[in-house]
Amino acid sequence: MSAPSRADCAARDGSDPFADKRSLFALPDGVIYLDGNSLGALPEAVPARLDTVARSQWGRDLITGWSKGWMELPVRLGARIAPLIGARDDEVLAADSTSVNLYKLAAAALDARPGRRKILTQRDNFPTDLYMLEAVAKERGAELSRVPEGEFLDALDDSVALVVLTHVHYKTAAIWDMAAVCAAARAADALSLWDLAHSAGAVPLDLDGAGADLAVGCGYKFLNGGPGAPAFLHVARRLQDTLSTPLAGWMGHAEPLSFAADYTPAPGIARFACGTPPILGLSALDAALDAFDGVDTDALYAKAQALGDLFIGLTEGLPGLSLISPRDAERRGSQVAFAHPQAGAIMARLIARGVIGDHRPPDVLRFGLAPLYNRFADIFDAAAILAEEVRATETALSD
Ligand SMILES: *Cc1c(COP(=O)(O)O)cnc(C)c1O
Repeated sequence: MSAPSRADCAARDGSDPFADKRSLFALPDGVIYLDGNSLGALPEAVPARLDTVARSQWGRDLITGWSKGWMELPVRLGARIAPLIGARDDEVLAADSTSVNLYKLAAAALDARPGRRKILTQRDNFPTDLYMLEAVAKERGAELSRVPEGEFLDALDDSVALVVLTHVHYKTAAIWDMAAVCAAARAADALSLWDLAHSAGAVPLDLDGAGADLAVGCGYKFLNGGPGAPAFLHVARRLQDTLSTPLAGWMGHAEPLSFAADYTPAPGIARFACGTPPILGLSALDAALDAFDGVDTDALYAKAQALGDLFIGLTEGLPGLSLISPRDAERRGSQVAFAHPQAGAIMARLIARGVIGDHRPPDVLRFGLAPLYNRFADIFDAAAILAEEVRATETALSD
């Protein structure tokens, strides 16, 4: 099969069911943005919403805004995120950062399994996950066990309170089989906690179908909520009233505005809130989520897989460049990553030429694929520029 031409790619863009979604985003001219898995692009709806919330709500309603919808935003946004992750509306809350949510849920899970003192995670998990879990374990006299992927299921014995995995790996994009891990965790009577940072808004998820217990995820990656956007947390309905958050703030109280001296947790997902919700950030995320209205996540993922296959096919055999993402699209999330000894220098050159991906030390080049706004022709152009830069590096080395 011959390599697709740029015209072939443009033709695919012409028949792309998501083609009209691109105009919902403000993308600078001359830039091919392949970093939507790190910071999603700006949705056009966001600046207008921020202006309205600031001027009409904050400016005019002042403190009465709290009784005109602000207070409900974390739960209402949770219900908007829920269908994207295969959860029920009342199982998700928009709140805090992913790191803080990891802490809250991991601590709650350990406290719910008092006879067990082990957290099991993947050896190469994302740094904040490892740091937070290490801190939770230390605080509670428990142990964090970092296990290589291939040994994971065997390590799941009756000492394990909690299994924590990042569903799509932040470097390689490798995907865990959520249903299989959840089944194994359930059989061992351990709880499961999933980090969906690189999954939500990118790959189809079925938390309820898989029997996942807990999850956290980012608002600023594929969900496009803006820099430092509020994150989300998921707690399966069956567990909500049995788990206790270690950060018992007043916003998780049954009656926050009663100013009671004693803490009584709210029923349901609301108990996992902590402090006053960030209304500007939540409003931006709310407007950003409009881009997902009517989006079928299976179709979205099918496009991401096709973009990834195209990128991989076009860069095959470049000297010194090796694919570290799964070649099989079914096992790959919404990004493509390569190793190259000169990864840092190559990415700096790509960014200077308008192709924005990122470098993950020491040697990883990572390209996020955001099917709401990345086009097949963009991938063709980015692959051509990557090929030029990789070959230029090779020439420089052999001089
Ligand atoms: C991006 C990312 C995070 C980010 O956590 P913050 O608290 O938002 O900084 C956490 N986990 C994973 C796997 C990530 O990729």
